[in-house]
Parts: sequence; C-alpha cells; structure tokens
Amino acid sequence: MFDYLIVGAGFAGSVIAERLAHSAGKRVLVIDKRNHIGGNAYDHYNDAGILVHRYGPHIFHTNSQEIFEYLSRFTEWRPYQHRVLAHVDGQLLPIPINLTTINQLYGLNLNSFEMEEFLNKVAEKREPLCTSEDVVVNRVGRELYEKFFQNYTRKQWGIDPSELDAAVTARVPVRTNRDDRYFSDKFQAMPRFGYTRMFENMLDHPNIKIMLNTDFREIAKEMNFQEMIYTGPVDEFFDYRYGKLPYRSLEFKHETHDVEKYQPVAVVNFPNEHLYTRVTEFKYLTGQEHPKTSIVYEYPRAEGDPYYPVPRPENAKLYSKYKALADSLSNVHFIGRLATYKYYNMDQVVGQALALFKKLSAQRSRTAAPDPLPVKLAPRLFANNGNGAHVATPG
Ligand code: FAD
Ligand code: UDP
Repeated sequence: MFDYLIVGAGFAGSVIAERLAHSAGKRVLVIDKRNHIGGNAYDHYNDAGILVHRYGPHIFHTNSQEIFEYLSRFTEWRPYQHRVLAHVDGQLLPIPINLTTINQLYGLNLNSFEMEEFLNKVAEKREPLCTSEDVVVNRVGRELYEKFFQNYTRKQWGIDPSELDAAVTARVPVRTNRDDRYFSDKFQAMPRFGYTRMFENMLDHPNIKIMLNTDFREIAKEMNFQEMIYTGPVDEFFDYRYGKLPYRSLEFKHETHDVEKYQPVAVVNFPNEHLYTRVTEFKYLTGQEHPKTSIVYEYPRAEGDPYYPVPRPENAKLYSKYKALADSLSNVHFIGRLATYKYYNMDQVVGQALALFKKLSAQRSRTAAPDPLPVKLAPRLFANNGNGAHVATPG
C-alpha cells in the first residue's frame, strides 16, 4: 500500500521520495526502468576498480546554501573545482575564455583592462540577445565564436547556435581575469563516496520501496495510486499526443588506459575536430588514486536515451501544450529535467523537488483531508539487492 508512486530514481524522484517518506511519513514506491538508482548521475566502480560516471561527467555546483545543506545530510563532500581546456588551433586553452586564453591564443601579454578593450573592439554588438550565436558574438566577436563555440554547438545539438536559445551558450561565462574554473558557484564539490552512495543514503528509509528494471507503462494498469510523481519524458507520458519533443542524446564510449594520467585536466573539449565533443578523465573528479585511469568520450546523437531538452522557441511552444495537459492532472506531478523539459543542472532539479514537497505539504495542511485511500497493487515481495535500498521482486 503506497501513498505515492514515483517514476524515476534520479535526483528529482529520489529527493521527493526522501522528503515524502522522511518528513511527511508517506509510503512511497519508486520505480525506474534502469537497473540502478541515481538516474543520469549514477556512478559505479568499473572492472578496473575505478569510479566512473556511466552517463558522462557530473560535477556538483550550486549557489544555494539550502540545497547544499540538504544534500549534505546524505553525503560528505570532497572539495573540487572543475577546470576544462579546449583544443583550438593546435593548443590546449582555458575555457571559459579568460585572459590566459586570449594571451596564449594570440601570443599577447594583455592585462585584464586591455583584454576588456580587446573584446570591445572585436565584439559585434547585438540587441536583443535571442540566440546562442548572439550571446557569444556580442561578447567576444565572430572569430572567437567560430573557434570555440560554433562547431562544438553544431556537434552537440545538431543545429547551429543561431537556432538555439541564448541560455545554452550563456551557461559558459567569459572572464577578463585568470580565473580558469568552469563554474563560479559558491558551493562546488563532489560527493566523497560517489553519487550512488549518496542516493542509497537518501533512499534508505523503511517507507521507501524501490523497483528497478520496471517501466512505468508495464505496471501502471496494475496499480491504483492516489498521487504520482513523474520524472520521465513528458511527451512519452502522454503517448506523444502532440508529436515528439526533441531530446538530444549522447553515446558514451568508456575506456581504461594503463597509465596513471591520460590528460592534463579533468575535461578536454574538442570544438573543431573529431565526432566527440569532450573527453573526461574521472580520477580528477573523484580524487581516486589508481595506477590506471578511466576516460569517457561523448558522441552526440539524435536518437537514443533522452539526455538534453533542446532549448529553442518551437520546442518551448510544443512543450507548453504538454505542460497544459500536465497541469490538468491534479494527482500527477511532473518534476525533473525530462518531465519539465528544462536544461537543468542537478542542483536546480533538487530545488524543484524540494519546492514540490513544500507545495504538497501546504496543500495537505490547507485541506487537512483524510489520507488518500490505499492503493491497489499486485502483491510483491521486497528484498535488498545491494544496488539500492529495498527492491521489489516479482511476487
Ligand atoms: P534523470 O537523472 O534523467 O532521472 C530520470 C529517471 O527516470 C531515469 O533514471 C530514467 O530511467 C527514469 N525513467 C524515465 N522514464 C521512465 C519510465 N517510463 N519508467 C520508469 N522509469 C523511467 N548537472 C550538473 O549539475 N552538473 C554536471 O556536471 C552535469 N553534467 C551532465 C552531463 C551529462 C552528459 C548529462 C546528460 C547531464 C548532466 N547534468 C549535470 C544534468 C543532470 O544529469 C541532471 O540535472 C539530473 O540528473 C536530472 O535528474 P532527473 O531526476 O530530472 O532526471
Ligand atoms: N559550448 C561550446 N564550446 C565549449 C563549451 C560549451 O560551444 O567549449 C556550448 C555548447 O553549445 C554547450 C553549451 O555551451 O552545449 C553549454 O556547455 P556546458 O559545458 O554547460 O554543457 P553540458 O555540460 O551541459 O553538456
């Protein structure tokens, strides 16, 4: 008997499950079609014993003390500042573009003030800043845009930056000092024992049961539920009634090399060469010491698991139709990157889940209605499979 069915065991599903179970005493069933918890943030030790992120590099960063403190209940942290180099014109240069990038690229010796003057000369002022091309060309001009952004973006998204919302490339700042960190957030750290361990701690509650390898559509008809939290793709939930919402996919090629260190920083971006966008070496992120090293290449794909919503006006329009459908269902709540079609980082998804919990709590205290009728569910046995907390096995 469950109060809530939660579809998806990623950040969105796990945070709301934890809150409902721990803080509201609700009994929740979390299902995921994958064979693990953690969603795209899942990490695991590979055959060589190296901790890797199955779905590409995940670096935690946030400006929200509330979100950082919330997650700190489930993990200790390893301080980590992310650094990235881009392979441009045969050199490895800091990205975000900073003073070092410009000086090294052009063989100059500018100071911050002179770099600002340089940028003012090369920038092509645009108003308003609508697209991902506008935002970069407006700040650093066409040449730097072409070297660092245009081809990377075409590769990653399958379309030109001029067809993508400004917010996509605006994620990457431009700095006139030597700060070469990828993120500027107040809190930047990695879960000390990995993301999966953090999720295990989050979900380790007697009121939370987990069923893996289970697609929502396989069991939906077997169950009566009072309320559902859905974190999968929103168009799929409604059987693509208005057509498919584009999600960009990736193929990950993992390798382990018999050397201690493979590249000079955690991530090297390749805007202009190769079919992959970037190469990540995990030991930089995790701090693990090991005589071998594991890396991952990311190959953008049109088909495959949905990883990125594609922010552009026509998709926002289509999403708004699905959102209207979603809003019309009072007992199903849509949160997360796929269900709300938002290019959210992990902390934003945590924030969204915490906000939903507050909303549900406020509703409950307003109506003070008796608890929902028990759900009808095919009988299941629950066991611990060591891959999450309590996992349902076919009854
Ligand atoms: P997900 O993690 O996608 O979880 C949704 C879950 O729902 C999945 O496990 C899926 O299997 C399950 N599901 C879907 N449909 C069904 C169904 N029908 N039945 C059952 N289960 C279903 N964020 C950062 O903050 N920092 C980073 O460095 C960072 N790097 C990233 C790198 C890559 C390559 C990608 C793709 C994302 C990155 N992100 C990063 C974003 C981060 O992954 C997301 O913000 C976060 O994981 C989203 O959590 P979620 O719960 O919304 O979705
Ligand atoms: N980007 C780029 N060149 C780079 C890095 C980023 O053109 O060297 C653009 C690209 O469009 C990318 C977007 O900026 O998709 C956001 O970059 P971010 O690193 O935040 O992407 P994510 O980690 O989410 O894949």
